[in-house]
Amino acid sequence: MTETLTPPTVAAGADSPLALLFDIALEIGVQGEDEQRDNAETAALDHVWNAYPDTLGKALDDDDWSGRPAVPGAVLEPSAVAYLDGGLWLHHSSDDDQEQDVLTLIAPCTCGNGYVDTVLDGERDLLQVLTDLRATGGRFPHDSGWPDCDSQRRLRAWGDARP
Ligand SMILES: [Zn+2]
Repeated sequence: MTETLTPPTVAAGADSPLALLFDIALEIGVQGEDEQRDNAETAALDHVWNAYPDTLGKALDDDDWSGRPAVPGAVLEPSAVAYLDGGLWLHHSSDDDQEQDVLTLIAPCTCGNGYVDTVLDGERDLLQVLTDLRATGGRFPHDSGWPDCDSQRRLRAWGDARP
């Protein structure tokens, strides 16, 4: 007796939980790269408006943010970057596990070999960092105690040409 396997496409009864789940999956789907970019830009904007209303909220428009889809191999979540000028960047990502916004300021190092990043901890912190950077012409002072201040490769991997 031979029996051919029928594909399981019609296995779900009309109102069964499985049929419902199939419908939900079809509706929600898997986020495409464009959607990830849009969501990353929106998340960055929201965070800046909420946490930095008097500084970044005033200085940056939605056009300034550029979303990046997740990079599975490098375990990078979707993120958004904004170029500030003078070689300075902002990078925003959301930590899905802790639902935390991580906003990082990236600036060239005084050694000239790369960038230094610092995670911003609110508007007061940003103002302090800006005051320091103003005094150094927008460069973070090189610290030989850091293992590596050269993050050019990472910036390039995101597809941003260096200014
Ligand atoms: Zn350096």
